[in-house]
Amino acid sequence: MRTLGLDELSALLERSPAMVQLRHRLSLVFLPEEVQTFDTVEELIAALDSPNPQPELPAIALSVDDRFIHRLLAVRCDHDPFTSDLNRILFPKIEQVQKMVLCQSQVPDWIVQNAAGDCVILFLVDGLGLSDWKRFGKSELFCEPCFVDGLTVTSQGMKRIVGEPTVAVRLAEKGYERSFGFSYWEREEEQLTDQIFFGVTEGVTKVRSFEEALEALDKLPLENSFVSIVREGLDQLCHRHRDRPDVEATVQQLGDEFLALAQRVQERGISATLFLTADHGILWRHEHNLRLYEAGSSNVPPRYYEGFMSGNLLWRVNFLGNDYSLLTYPFIRRQLKSTEWGVHGGLSFEESFVPLAKLTVP
Ligand SMILES: [Zn+2]
Repeated sequence: MRTLGLDELSALLERSPAMVQLRHRLSLVFLPEEVQTFDTVEELIAALDSPNPQPELPAIALSVDDRFIHRLLAVRCDHDPFTSDLNRILFPKIEQVQKMVLCQSQVPDWIVQNAAGDCVILFLVDGLGLSDWKRFGKSELFCEPCFVDGLTVTSQGMKRIVGEPTVAVRLAEKGYERSFGFSYWEREEEQLTDQIFFGVTEGVTKVRSFEEALEALDKLPLENSFVSIVREGLDQLCHRHRDRPDVEATVQQLGDEFLALAQRVQERGISATLFLTADHGILWRHEHNLRLYEAGSSNVPPRYYEGFMSGNLLWRVNFLGNDYSLLTYPFIRRQLKSTEWGVHGGLSFEESFVPLAKLTVP
């Protein structure tokens, strides 16, 4: 099977319908609007064979079926939709994007459905975008790209991930009756911490380091248990940091800790499903040409407004009864301070896509 880039695929579709293997369905939003999409080859063939007016070209089937190889071209497309280039179309095609990728508000369901084995572990990171994870994280881990379908701030992202009722409560119904919380989050917000760990039966242990969390975990009975661990990620590094933060080292450490968790569980002969995800990512100022949207005062959030604002560069969302307007890429409401190395809160590939990694042991 031939492998094509996105432009070659578009050109090919001008001439002929085709069966195409995409790396991810989201590549479809980069193709011209008029491309007709069929989930199976049979549906495409049925449309082509129909006595009704023929579907207008271009048309594409999102699978390759050997039975139809004599009739249709079969190609592979190696386009990766999860890059900064997504910022060009993320806002104009926001509704399609939300249908094509896993959204953060679906993560609780995804975790509950994928939970298997003696023990379930959720490693929740405060600030880790898919863009940084792809560059510096563990490429060997299975990772589902996840779209933060709302304001890209800590409290809302964390609440979307744990859900309502919380994952802890739902997993208890599935047999993971005991649950343990660990936090080595330096920014302790009591109320938010209570909400994230709501339903955790055995309490939350505050630890100062990952080693401390591992040691505490070693003493726990993990069979039929759910363990939720909240850890600081890149969020704290992007605000109020004097020197340029070492993003690479931080992301690598997060990946190492996640794998170490899995290894520790495996050494005890316990089967487990481990999940890693984050509340939001970071849009780094030194990597992007951020542009002033207005000259806002120095203490407003740089990437969103409370309430619905008018303007065609804003994505309007509601969360728990409150309205927000998110700035699209690459706009900011105010000048950044020298200690602000990155921003979040708005809508961009960097802020709005996070990894959802899954690992099973043994
Ligand atoms: Zn955060």
